[in-house]
Amino acid sequence: MRGGDRMSKSIVNSCRRCGSKGGSLVKKYGLYLCRQCFREVARTLGFNKHR
Ligand SMILES: [Zn+2]
Repeated sequence: MRGGDRMSKSIVNSCRRCGSKGGSLVKKYGLYLCRQCFREVARTLGFNKHR
């Protein structure tokens, strides 16, 4: 049987910024970044304006 690659194509499982895999990706806001990159990007975008 073939046809098992229907799902694997649409799943993004690596950081779009540094390309690291295996960590927990932040998929919020459609960013697809690892947590480390997300922190840097969030800081740049001004997400951290709690205070
Ligand atoms: Zn990253």
